[in-house]
Amino acid sequence: MNDRHVPTVEMKIALPAGLAGELERTAAAAGLTAAEITRTALAYYLEARRRPDGEAESAVYLSAPVTAMLKGFYEEKTLLGDLRRHGDFGLGTFNNLDGEMVMLDGIIYQLRADGQACPVADDARTPFACVTFYRPTVSEAFEEELDYAAFQALLGRLLPSDNMLYAIRVDGFFREVQAWSVSRQENYRPLNEEEHNRPALSFENISGVLAGFYTPKFIRSLNFPGFHLHFLTADRRYGGHLHACRTERVKIGIQFIQQLKLDLPMTIDYLTARLPR
Ligand SMILES: [Zn+2]
Repeated sequence: MNDRHVPTVEMKIALPAGLAGELERTAAAAGLTAAEITRTALAYYLEARRRPDGEAESAVYLSAPVTAMLKGFYEEKTLLGDLRRHGDFGLGTFNNLDGEMVMLDGIIYQLRADGQACPVADDARTPFACVTFYRPTVSEAFEEELDYAAFQALLGRLLPSDNMLYAIRVDGFFREVQAWSVSRQENYRPLNEEEHNRPALSFENISGVLAGFYTPKFIRSLNFPGFHLHFLTADRRYGGHLHACRTERVKIGIQFIQQLKLDLPMTIDYLTARLPR
């Protein structure tokens, strides 16, 4: 994180010799610097301290493994209302892929193929959703204009490890946002065939929020790997799945999460499917 985009403060800390030696050995074995290990360890320690007594550890909740949806199973029984027990923030889609979904401050929005957003009732159903109770571990403001590559690199530098889960919320003003939304699909038509048919949405000079997650690549059969973010305009009227953006002034909040909860569907389709490893 030794980077011009991330404000840092230099600190000198005296450690017992034994602990310092162990830190150096651990760092060498992991191919990291002692400072990188210290930052990661400290962030997790402070996050745990901040939780009030008895409050559950934060977890990413998946209503189904994404591999089932990618296989073309677009109808599941999970109610949006069920998601509320697991989070107030997240993303996903609706049965028959009827638009992208984003959940912000406990409100669930449907982002339709034409880019329009509207709140959805709790009795709608989803084949795939990923939610958590959002409580950022770190929050930083950035005033600089960043193209999409620089923005992604900045997000990457704010994550202390590629092997953890993170909820990410970015509020601010965007020079440009490119997004798309799925349109309603027949069941059993695998997603990839439709990718090139997705309508493009484009926004310029707009205030809004990006909400989503970072998932380690080795969990790809359960959740989309890497960054997955959905965009919603500040007036909550338009949005979509983020394709690219150019930021101007943004506040980035990141929640470090070390637990994953997964529900497995109890549908005949799922139970009898041959799923890829
Ligand atoms: Zn998406």
